Amino acid sequence: MTGCGGKLARLTSQSQYDICVPGECMQQLSTEICITRNPHAAGCNRLLKVLLHGSCSYDCAYCSVRLDRSHHSFAPHELAEIVHEQYRNNLTGGLFLSSGVPHDTDDVMDGLIETARILRGRGYPGYLHLKVLPGASRDDIREAARLADCISLNVETTGESRLRFLSGIKDYANDIIKRIGWIADAAPGRFMTQLVIGAAGETDREIFDCISSLYGQMHPSRIYYSGFHSLPKTRLSSHESTPAWRPRRWYQVDSLIREYGFSRKELLPLLDDNGILPNDDPKALLARGSDPVDLNSASFADLIRVPGIGPTTARTIIASREDRWIRGPDDLDMDAACLKRAMPYLAFEGTPRQATLALFG
Ligand code: SF4
Repeated sequence: MTGCGGKLARLTSQSQYDICVPGECMQQLSTEICITRNPHAAGCNRLLKVLLHGSCSYDCAYCSVRLDRSHHSFAPHELAEIVHEQYRNNLTGGLFLSSGVPHDTDDVMDGLIETARILRGRGYPGYLHLKVLPGASRDDIREAARLADCISLNVETTGESRLRFLSGIKDYANDIIKRIGWIADAAPGRFMTQLVIGAAGETDREIFDCISSLYGQMHPSRIYYSGFHSLPKTRLSSHESTPAWRPRRWYQVDSLIREYGFSRKELLPLLDDNGILPNDDPKALLARGSDPVDLNSASFADLIRVPGIGPTTARTIIASREDRWIRGPDDLDMDAACLKRAMPYLAFEGTPRQATLALFG
């Protein structure tokens, strides 16, 4: 690792705008090594997140990588050696590898794949997430999927005209959506994508339509949401950065889709008359004005629609009511804050006659 000078530090810090784990945070291990910690991951919770090339010939309006004049790069064997050494020394559990595109896309993809191939060839057993570049070939996508635990390509924004505002080089339909389709074929259930909120003036309705069709047609395992950050010297340096609550609200909507199974039709009322997603808890917004849910007879689907009740709590409630009647909040084994959120939407009466018959019959 010695001899890399500031290159490793530079290429890790340049990778910070790609999200690779939920709730990630950066941690400085030394002047050269910055790793990404995921406090919630059970398995691999420390990742080296790094670029292969630190400059880019693309023209994305919000990106600082394209302005980098230092032209730092790793050769595949050089980066593979660093990663393997870190893994052997228990400094990281995995690698998230992306790259700027200083020259031909296929050449850069070859470099990413070669790094992964060297690592796997040396018996590297750690977690490996490879970023696929816009416009990558189908063969390269298949090979990346074979070598990596997870692959991803950023959808960036919500459609052709929005992308045209951000880049005159990338083609939304061909370079991004078509490639995400190939990724979905090559790595079903283990690919991700990322949307930058607020960079291209897209509306919340456009974001909603975009993520609905991605989940409905491509089935990514996750979509990440990053707020647009206005960076000096970029074309969007005078644009306002996106407030932190916007991506946070989209993560909440995302969780209602992925973990709670809310349909597109159920979620559409979240958007106000102007198609804007309000800065409020989406689950509470949807529940407002609805009839209380009877804890003694509600289905799993109805229970998880109550604010403060998630899938685990719903399962506990259903299991506990098999042998006892839930008479009030004291009969619920729930966290106090969650119970407070749920109470306005709960009923404990049930349908006593039917339920009593069921209990004794
Ligand atoms: S492709 Fe765009 S976002 Fe990615 S490094 Fe190049 S300029 Fe930046």
